[in-house]
Amino acid sequence: MRLLLASSEVEPYAKTGGLADMTAALGKYLARAGHQVGVVTPLHRGMPPALVATLEPFDWSLDLPLGGATFHADVKIAQPEPNLTIYFVDAPQFYDRAGLYLDPVSKHDYWDNAERYIFFSKAVVNLARYLPWKPEVMHVHDWHTALVPLFVRHQAWHDGWSDAPKTVLTIHNLAPQGRCHAAKYALTNLPGYYFHADAAEFWGDFNPLKAGLVFADTITTVSPTYAREILTPAYGEGLDGVLRRRQHVLSGILNGVDYEKWRTSGNPHLPAAYTVDDLAGKAANKAALQAEMGLPVRANVPLLGTISRLEPQKGADLILAALEEMLASGLQYVLLGSGRPDFEDGFRSLARRYPAQVAVKIGYDAALAHRIEAACDFYLMPSRFEPCGLNQMYSLRYGAVPVVRATGGLQDSITDIREDPAHADGIKFQAPTAAALAKAIRKGLALWSEPTLLALYRRHGMLKDFSWQRSVTAYEALYGRLLGRGRLSA
Ligand code: ADP
Repeated sequence: MRLLLASSEVEPYAKTGGLADMTAALGKYLARAGHQVGVVTPLHRGMPPALVATLEPFDWSLDLPLGGATFHADVKIAQPEPNLTIYFVDAPQFYDRAGLYLDPVSKHDYWDNAERYIFFSKAVVNLARYLPWKPEVMHVHDWHTALVPLFVRHQAWHDGWSDAPKTVLTIHNLAPQGRCHAAKYALTNLPGYYFHADAAEFWGDFNPLKAGLVFADTITTVSPTYAREILTPAYGEGLDGVLRRRQHVLSGILNGVDYEKWRTSGNPHLPAAYTVDDLAGKAANKAALQAEMGLPVRANVPLLGTISRLEPQKGADLILAALEEMLASGLQYVLLGSGRPDFEDGFRSLARRYPAQVAVKIGYDAALAHRIEAACDFYLMPSRFEPCGLNQMYSLRYGAVPVVRATGGLQDSITDIREDPAHADGIKFQAPTAAALAKAIRKGLALWSEPTLLALYRRHGMLKDFSWQRSVTAYEALYGRLLGRGRLSA
């Protein structure tokens, strides 16, 4: 099949979260399955120089309208694998910024995010329409590219695009919707008749994600449980009604893990290698991380960790409150993350007050993320909602027992002893409260005091397989259905 993916983030070029991991891996494994794959992404600032050096100019020039003005972009390409081309939309006025979506200092969204992503969506559509290899399916991701299905539909209905591709919209997170003032709708240059409550309008505002949910040929999200949850007001972020109307085209496909990157042996980020049958290296990673983070180097103290955006979604407040209680047990905790300033301050304060137990690094550090997963005995992920979540799956592979709230992808990827004693690999709790998290941590500490059972949990987790093959097969089937093909072909 000929497939064009579009995403604001693609690892290793730009990343703020799991969206980047997923789009990179999906593109790579679809290409390896023999499909012709393009991935369109903005040329963001901050790409490592070694990667910038791999970009080549592409003979393509974009001059696209945003309302009354026209903006220019060039296109560059990279070809990291056979069958796989990454198209970078190079428009410095929009993407040459210190942050991807917000100013890292003020933490405020860029004022022109609507302009930036309407422009990007138009660039994606332009490539889809005129690239000589004519993509058959366009797979767009999250609100940044959610206008693409509407642009495609409009051009197919009213602008002579007779062989327009089918569109898939994947929701990695329903909360950010790109909602903005109604006046920004004019930047789309679409007729006003799409701006109504059953399409792009949302309580008087313009909502790009809603437009995508209405016009995409099919909608997916990144776990089966989240696909069900978002049909309810509690998880629907105001769009559950729209989603219920489109329920017949909505499905959940759990993300895979790129085990070429997330592995415990042959991983350049780790001080020591280890395997499921020989965990000596894990103990060495723990000692190395304790030393690196300034904690006492103690093998007999359980080390807990988290790598996360510090937001209410991720339960950062629940961790803070639960730790206040649980630190009395003597456990150690490391955090890597950034986000809401009050949460950052809360973790810094905890580390100041408990220097022998809590170590915190505020920021983003891909290599440290690997070292933390490899060092930790337990991994805390008390998300209020979690479309898929990757770190709990990385934790399983790295032998850090996940302690998670039973929601979304966490529910789908972790097995609690109450569900299946023969395959237990993590600890789940239900209520989004600090008390429930503290109780789950106490269960973790009980497990810590039973080394044989703990070893079994680790073994189950490390042997669990979330490789991309399973997810890619599900996406292939979905694309095939859209194209009306009974039999799948590359
Ligand atoms: P989300 O996409 O909602 O932030 P996921 O668990 O799906 O959450 O994916 C998060 C990804 O981002 C993981 O690969 C995780 O390791 C990474 N990550 C998050 N915060 C940091 C950080 N501060 N430093 C390094 N990696 C991070």
